[in-house]
Amino acid sequence: MSETPPADSIRAASCADDYDPNSMSVERAREFIARFLAPIGQTQRLALRDALDHVLAEDVISPFDVPAADNSAMDGYALRHADVDGRESTVLRVVGTAFAGHGYADAVGPGECIRIMTGGVVPAGLDAVVPIEHTRLENPADRDRVVFGAGIRRAQNVRYAGEDIRRGTAVLRRGQWLRPAEIGLLASLGIGEVGVFRRLRVAFFSTGDELASIGQPLAEGQVYDSNRYTIHGMLSRLGVDLIDMGVVRDDPALLEAHFAQAAACADVVITSGGVSVGEADFIKQMLDRMGEVVFWKIAMKPGRPLAYGRIGGAHFFGLPGNPVSVMVTFYQFVREPLLRLMGRDPLPLLPTFPAVCTGPLRKAPGRTEFQRGILGPAAGGGWEVRPTGEQGSGILSSMSQANCFILLPEAQGNVAAGSTVEVQMFEGLI
Ligand code: AMP
Ligand code: MG
Repeated sequence: MSETPPADSIRAASCADDYDPNSMSVERAREFIARFLAPIGQTQRLALRDALDHVLAEDVISPFDVPAADNSAMDGYALRHADVDGRESTVLRVVGTAFAGHGYADAVGPGECIRIMTGGVVPAGLDAVVPIEHTRLENPADRDRVVFGAGIRRAQNVRYAGEDIRRGTAVLRRGQWLRPAEIGLLASLGIGEVGVFRRLRVAFFSTGDELASIGQPLAEGQVYDSNRYTIHGMLSRLGVDLIDMGVVRDDPALLEAHFAQAAACADVVITSGGVSVGEADFIKQMLDRMGEVVFWKIAMKPGRPLAYGRIGGAHFFGLPGNPVSVMVTFYQFVREPLLRLMGRDPLPLLPTFPAVCTGPLRKAPGRTEFQRGILGPAAGGGWEVRPTGEQGSGILSSMSQANCFILLPEAQGNVAAGSTVEVQMFEGLI
């Protein structure tokens, strides 16, 4: 795991840097945040099943060879290659059978072979397995005299001891995300308990006087708080411990109390709303007293305002209020840092790939855009992406209809129908 010590002062870094907080590129903002991330130190030991979706905190060394013994990959006959090598046809005598879990204990002499089932141990001295369908009986009445043809290779269909994993080698490394495959792999080594990083604790709340909670009637000018639900969903997919702190009105004393409480109980605090121009000023002063927070206007759409920093001992991400902006900024700026704090290493880069865009796109140069698209197979082969239409940052239904982002880089202008664009699938994200 790369253990570059994280920089300590966010404020110092933001002053020393020559960036313009009023026009931060997406890449620059990502790089800045990355400087302050190190995995949370605390670890715990968990029973294997419970360790699913956690991150390994230790290297796992194989206690034995896998497979533990030479065994057969086929149902057939195990024989000595020297007995059949270079002959058109050879008859060998069957002296016994090796089943998976029940080996053949006696010696096998020259001119002899054994019947063997998949997974059966290949006795010492034998070095090839011939599948049953490549053989015939010399005489149908005698099942113990088998005819083998030409072309048998040494070692064919034998799985050798240690060919998958050698005893003493690292099977899995610290930083590995434990998926079903890793859980199975650990089980195959007889390991029943592993050291993992404890789950990340993430506190979040929505801010805004206009927000109503579900269950309340909507007064004039109010909207239901949807951000807390999308954030809840996105965080749940990452496997963190959630602390949902509800809706907080735009009241300095209330906000300060919630920030303090969140920072005291969580590793990460995420809010939505309240970081745009106009609202930012009083929050800025408050957070300056409570920690170190930088406020950016990112050169992107949607999701322009973004705050990042530290409140007490917690990382803080202040996302914009618009529902689509919340999702885009979460995926582009919060997801990877959370994985990093969880101990994941190396970080998975979300793949992007080219697709033909079926319609024209309006795009102003000078900012990165994350438009929403529906990717599907093109009639002539390959993939095509259809824009979801209205791209406003408040139009959450565009995220719901879409299955991918259409990534339009800063320098890009309008896109003509039929052009190739880069897409990033939601699959794997959500
Ligand atoms: P703000 O960033 O606080 O200025 O909010 C920008 C826009 O997003 C406003 O139209 C808000 O009503 C809307 N908004 C803010 N927070 C939420 C939320 N939690 N759920 C739904 N919409 C919100
Ligand atoms: Mg607001």
